[in-house]
Amino acid sequence: MTPTVEVEQVVIDGKAIAAQVRAEVAEGVAAFVERHGRRPGLATVLVGSDPASEVYVRNKRRACVAAGMADHHHRVDEDATQDEVEALVDALAADDSVSGILLQLPLPAHLDSVALVERIPADKDVDGLTAVNAGLIAQGRPGLVPCTPGGVIRLLDQHQVELSGARAVVIGRSILVGRPMAALLTQRDATVTLCHSRTVDLAARCREADILVVASGQRALVQSNWVRPGAVVIDVGIHRTDDGLAGDVAPGAAVQAALVTPVPGGVGPMTIAMLLSNTLLAAERAAAV
Ligand code: NAD
Repeated sequence: MTPTVEVEQVVIDGKAIAAQVRAEVAEGVAAFVERHGRRPGLATVLVGSDPASEVYVRNKRRACVAAGMADHHHRVDEDATQDEVEALVDALAADDSVSGILLQLPLPAHLDSVALVERIPADKDVDGLTAVNAGLIAQGRPGLVPCTPGGVIRLLDQHQVELSGARAVVIGRSILVGRPMAALLTQRDATVTLCHSRTVDLAARCREADILVVASGQRALVQSNWVRPGAVVIDVGIHRTDDGLAGDVAPGAAVQAALVTPVPGGVGPMTIAMLLSNTLLAAERAAAV
C-alpha cells in the first residue's frame, strides 16, 4: 500500500483558462483586422449528420464568431463521394479568405478520411492532423499543434509546472492526443514515457510520473495507487454517464496529486480555445508571407 501523504491540491480551472485564451485570440483578431482590413476565417466541413459532430461543429462555429473571425461553414450530404469532398477541400485550400480548415471527424465509413485530411494544406490544418504538422511537431519545429495536447501544455504553463527534466507519462498514442502530447512534452525537455494498450505494468509506469497525462478513452482506468503523491494529473478522457461527464481517472484516484484537472471543466474547454488560437496563428502566418 502507498502511504497516505497530505498534499494541498490545486484544481485547474480549464474554463477560466480557456476564457483567457479566447479573450487573447479576440484581441489578436481585432489587431489582425486593423492591420489587414479583413478577418481571419475558419472553414468547418461537416459531412452527414452525426448528432455529436453537429454539436461540436456548432460550438466551434459559435466560438469562432465570438472571437471576431469569419465563419465559413460547409454542410455536405452523408452520401457525398470522395471526389466531391476532395473538391470542397481543394476549393477551401485555394480560398484566401479561409485561414483554417476543420474537417469534422469521424467521416462516414465510405470516405477515406486519411486522404481527405492530407489534402488540407499544412498551413491551414488548424486541427494539426496532417503528417506534415505531426512531423514538424516531432522535430520540435513550429507547425500547427493539435488542439487538445496544445491546450494541455497551456494549462501546465498557466500553472507554471516545471516541464524541463520532469518525468512525464502519457497514456494513449492516438494521432489526435497521445502522440503529439508526448512530442510536445519532449520538446519542452520532459523525459517522456508513452504508454498504450500493450504497455506492461502500466500502474508502475504511472507511479514514476511527475506529470501524468491520461488519454486512454477508458473510463476510470487510473486508480488511486497509480498516482505519486505530489504529481500533476491531467485527465483528457471524456465519457458520458448517467451522472454526467466522467474521465479516464477514477473518482478520488488523484486525491494525493498536487495539481489536477476536473472532468468536466478541465481539458475539455481548452480544445476549442486552441482551435481559435491556431486559426489566428494560421492567418497571421499567411499574411506574413
Ligand atoms: P483513441 O481511442 O484514439 O486512443 C486511445 C489510446 O489509449 C490508444 O492509443 C490506446 O493504445 C490507449 N489505450 C486504450 N486502452 C488502454 C489501456 N487499458 N491501457 C493503456 N492504454 C490504453 O482516443 P483519443 O482520441 O486519443 O481520446 C482519448 C480520450 O480523450 C477519449 O476519452 C476522448 O473522448 C478524450 N478526448 C477528449 C478531448 C477533449 O477535448 N478533452 C479531445 C479528444 C479526445
